[in-house]
Amino acid sequence: MNSTFPPEYEVYALRYAVQPDRTARENYLFYDEHDGPMPQDYFIWAIRDEARVIVVDTGFTAEMAAKRKRTFLRSPIAALAGIGIDASQVRDVVITHMHYDHAGNLDAFPQARFHVQDKEMQYCTGRCMCYDLLRRPFEKYDVITAVRHLFEGRLVFHDGDETLAPGVSLHLIGGHTLGQQVVRVHTKRGYIVLASDGAHYWSNIRSRKPFPLVADVMLMLEGYTRIDALADGPEHVIPGHDPAVLTTFPTWPSSGDVALLHEAPIAHAERTDGQTALSVQI
Ligand SMILES: [Zn+2]
Ligand SMILES: [Zn+2]
Repeated sequence: MNSTFPPEYEVYALRYAVQPDRTARENYLFYDEHDGPMPQDYFIWAIRDEARVIVVDTGFTAEMAAKRKRTFLRSPIAALAGIGIDASQVRDVVITHMHYDHAGNLDAFPQARFHVQDKEMQYCTGRCMCYDLLRRPFEKYDVITAVRHLFEGRLVFHDGDETLAPGVSLHLIGGHTLGQQVVRVHTKRGYIVLASDGAHYWSNIRSRKPFPLVADVMLMLEGYTRIDALADGPEHVIPGHDPAVLTTFPTWPSSGDVALLHEAPIAHAERTDGQTALSVQI
C-alpha cells in the first residue's frame, strides 16, 4: 500500500500522434520573431497508484488522423495497454475539454464515468458553436457521443475547482475553450499540473505568448498564471502538445512515446522553435 498521504501517483504522458510540418507562427497568437518548424505532438495522460487508475483525455482515432492530416502513431487505447491499463476496465476518465484531439474514443471506455466542466458542455452545445471558427476543433460525433453518455448517467459535471481523489484535483481554466480544465496530481516530486490545452507548449506559458486557438484570450493569460501557481515548479507544468515533454523526462523502457512525469526531469525543456525556454524573458 501507498503509505504517504496524499498518495504519490505515477503519471504518464502517452504520445499517439504527431504533426511534424507545423510552424512556429501557427502556435502563437502574435508572433514577431523568425518563423520555423515547430512540430506538435498529441498526448493522452494516465494517473495511477495501487488503488486507482484515472485516464486524462481519450485522443482521436486513425480515421480522424486521416481526416485532419495528422500522423497517427498508434491508438490511444493501445498506448494505454502498453503500460498495462485496459481501457475497458477504467472507471474514471477526465475530459479536459471536448476538442477532437482530446475527446474521441469515448466508447472504448464502457465502464467509465467522464468528468467534464459544466462550462465545457455548455460551450460545445451552445451558441458559440454557431461560429465556424470556434466549431472547427470539435467533432460533431464526439459531442453527440458525450451527450449520449450524459443520458446514460455517465457524465460527471464539475464547476470550477474540485477534488477527484486524494491528491488529484480538477481546476477550471477556460481561455482555450470556455470549459478547459487542468488536472493537478501529487507525485513523489511534488504537485504536477497536466495543463492539456491550458498551455500547449512550455514557450506559450513561460513567455506568456497565447496560443492562437482561443475562446477568451484574457482567461488564457490568467490561466497561465493559475497553472504556474498550482504547480510546484516550471517543470511541474506539463504542456499539452509539446514534443519536448518526451526529451525532458525519462521514458518508458520499451517506448520513447511514454514520458514518466513523476520522475525528475533529465533535461531542461528546450523550446521547439530552437530557443531555450528557461531563458525567455517574461
Ligand atoms: Zn484544444
Ligand atoms: Zn489539443
